[in-house]
Amino acid sequence: MSTFKAPKGTYDLIPPVSETFLAVRDALSAPLRRAGYGYVETPGFESVELFARGVGESTDIVTKEMYTLTTKGGDELALRPEGTASVLRAALEASLHKAGNLPVKLWYSGSYYRYERPQKGRYRHFSQVGAEAIGAEDPALDAELIILAVDAYKSLGLRNFRLLLNSLGDKECRPVYRAALQEFLRGLDLDEDTRRRIDINPLRVLDDKREAVQKQLTGAPMMRDHLCEACKAYHEQVRELLTAAGVEFEDDPKLVRGLDYYTRTTFEFVHDGLGSQSAVGGGGRYDGLSEMIGGPELPSVGWALGVDRTVLALEAEGVELQLPASTQVFTVPLGEEARRTLFGVVTELRRAGIATDFAYGGKGLKNAMKSANRSGARYAIVAGERDLAEGAVQLKDLQSGEQAPVALGEIVAELRRKLA
Ligand code: AMP
Repeated sequence: MSTFKAPKGTYDLIPPVSETFLAVRDALSAPLRRAGYGYVETPGFESVELFARGVGESTDIVTKEMYTLTTKGGDELALRPEGTASVLRAALEASLHKAGNLPVKLWYSGSYYRYERPQKGRYRHFSQVGAEAIGAEDPALDAELIILAVDAYKSLGLRNFRLLLNSLGDKECRPVYRAALQEFLRGLDLDEDTRRRIDINPLRVLDDKREAVQKQLTGAPMMRDHLCEACKAYHEQVRELLTAAGVEFEDDPKLVRGLDYYTRTTFEFVHDGLGSQSAVGGGGRYDGLSEMIGGPELPSVGWALGVDRTVLALEAEGVELQLPASTQVFTVPLGEEARRTLFGVVTELRRAGIATDFAYGGKGLKNAMKSANRSGARYAIVAGERDLAEGAVQLKDLQSGEQAPVALGEIVAELRRKLA
């Protein structure tokens, strides 16, 4: 061990789990790539102001969890705590919304940073795969994104996840509801912090996990009873489209999510095997966000799925992904001349697209064959001076144990045939 350890709340991705991680990222994004979403990559840091305005001044993310820094040039930057504000900023900056093809559909994958209290499933550095559909108000778009997330989880073999669904209303009905909720909350017995929250972000009080608070919330006005006709009809269509696609969901009138920018459709995926950090993904519609960061009116919808927690959910369900072996052929030279010849064969095999590794470090036959078995390779090539003098190598099937000589000039073609 070195003197150093990974910083608190972080962990390193190392083989073999890192392979699962890559496969999960791939699986979460595959449905998006089949649905017209283009890949976007934004910087790992942005101006603090973007998140303050875009995520919301009253959110935990902005008030407590951002890693901020002042550059030598005096710029106030923050490591990105989430993806939506950055992606929308990038789309606006590149005027993607003006190219005439709305919605602009984008997906991303990367690292996010929140200064949270670390525990299992909650880290200070974590990974998300996300999607945003910018510039269209259409219940089918909300439904599309939810269906793509469900398909992604299912493609991994996950079963024990649930979809929670709610509508947060729009700029017509939300303020009326907000006022009604504030009036109700002001009549409760709450601590000072929570009372302050009533003024800034009363919906978040519904999300309070403390039982003493939850008990008092029975009878609180619910957004779903205050939705205007347009929001009601919109939400009903989303629900119908999901049902038609065979997607099950639970209506959760208390689902508000931690970010200020959501309007109308909000949803969360929870996994029942993860304990307290059960949210594996979530998202919703954010019709006002573009204007909040200085852009035009661009109603949009998106989600972010947590890669770390999806990997934990797979573990919790005992799902093992069928990953292709990283090495197909392992090559074992016996002696100096064989080393030179077989190293050339290794390069040739790799150039032919066959994943090949080599017994480095001049190991003896026994150790080299152990490495071959550990590598997961299906075949081993073994050759010594005597084989090479005859223009041949030994090809060993590591599954059956059978071994036969193959002409040196034929080995690449032979392995291609066998592995096809
Ligand atoms: P959020 O934008 O907070 O809803 O995050 C979307 C998803 O990212 C969550 O459902 C989690 O799966 C994941 N996530 C958020 N914060 C963390 C964290 N601190 N550690 C690990 N995963 C996280």
